[in-house]
Amino acid sequence: MISNRIILSKILSSNLYSKAFCIFIIGFYSQCTIAKSDSGSNIFSSEKIANISMVAVGDIMVHDSQLKANYSIKNRKYNFHQSFELVSPYLQGNDFVFGNLETTLPGNPEHYSGYPQFGAPAELAYALKDAGFQILSTANNHSVDKGTLGIRNTLDVLDQLNIKHLGTYRTQKEYEQNRNLILDIEGFKIFFYNYTYGTNGLPIPDDTVVNLISEELISTDLAFAKSQKADAIIVAFHYGPEYVRIPAKDQTKWVDFAIREGADIILGGHPHVLQTYGVEKRTDRYGENRDRLILYSMGNFLSGQRHLHTDGGAIFRWNLLLKNDGNRTFLEYQNVHYIPTWVFPNLKSDHNRFVIIPVLDYMNENGKLLNLEYGIKTTSANKLNGKLNLDKKSEQDMKTFLFNTMELIGKPGLKSI
Ligand SMILES: [Zn+2]
Repeated sequence: MISNRIILSKILSSNLYSKAFCIFIIGFYSQCTIAKSDSGSNIFSSEKIANISMVAVGDIMVHDSQLKANYSIKNRKYNFHQSFELVSPYLQGNDFVFGNLETTLPGNPEHYSGYPQFGAPAELAYALKDAGFQILSTANNHSVDKGTLGIRNTLDVLDQLNIKHLGTYRTQKEYEQNRNLILDIEGFKIFFYNYTYGTNGLPIPDDTVVNLISEELISTDLAFAKSQKADAIIVAFHYGPEYVRIPAKDQTKWVDFAIREGADIILGGHPHVLQTYGVEKRTDRYGENRDRLILYSMGNFLSGQRHLHTDGGAIFRWNLLLKNDGNRTFLEYQNVHYIPTWVFPNLKSDHNRFVIIPVLDYMNENGKLLNLEYGIKTTSANKLNGKLNLDKKSEQDMKTFLFNTMELIGKPGLKSI
């Protein structure tokens, strides 16, 4: 990690020098020219570099238990901010913060409901915005749970909050205009797509669009991104069987397909449990043999699910280093790691319900509790109204989740790649 940092700072500083030199040179030439050194490499080139900090989490859901627990009878209001207070420091301040919104936001309280057809209050999105989320995917098996109203109102709320979204569209016209989500980060163009395996058998209402997984659609989208000289391509899939902890064929075949078509990063969801992740060198149909980051399933970030392996998830974080030499973009992944999270329902208390806890702020990797004033070491814990008193069973459940997670996907520290 240290050597990576040193290399990075060297690259950045040399780039800064070349930029400064370019600015100096511009006084004499209309354009900074590229000179070749003896070795053939550029001395002061048109090279550009970006170091993008990226964060992704899994499924964000609101079950009946949360609707009940996060509603104040006294204030007659919903509030989901408490769920994210402890994790927001890990989300904020990054260049890319993504999650899968697996509920609709239908607007009308009559349509609020948990499983099987999800509809949550807009207050969920207010809390997600304040927690640091910048982009949410909306194509999943619950996209059309509340029909046209659900699709349209969800996107209206996200637009009002300036949260980017992808995967569902209010009209065909909007789809044609926005089917490629293009992120411009430090001058690099990152194309982002989201597809779901289905919509639980519910018909997609006329004129609205939900991106369904198909070879034809993925090929068309990614070929377009390539034709536009995308520097990187991200695909978020909603796929695979639920509660299975090993990537199923129904996942790997789509991951393989998307990478063959040029995808660089795969963000998976829907199984509601964590699955393996890592960087692999793969060749696409353009002949590019390069590292791809694959997160097969990011588990539940927020939900009311309490079964083994579904009661927690992870915050995945990495740095994407992009470098363009004037012809090609080179990608490198650094500091790829995850932060295990566990959802504490805290139903015995009348506040701080369904709090997502960064597990290692509460216990170490051996499950030993940290000796902390608030039970949690994050400074944001001070914002909570008092101590999070985890009962013995909750502590044990969190520990079980941590151990099972480490056994399956490795320790939370840096993934050796
Ligand atoms: Zn799902």
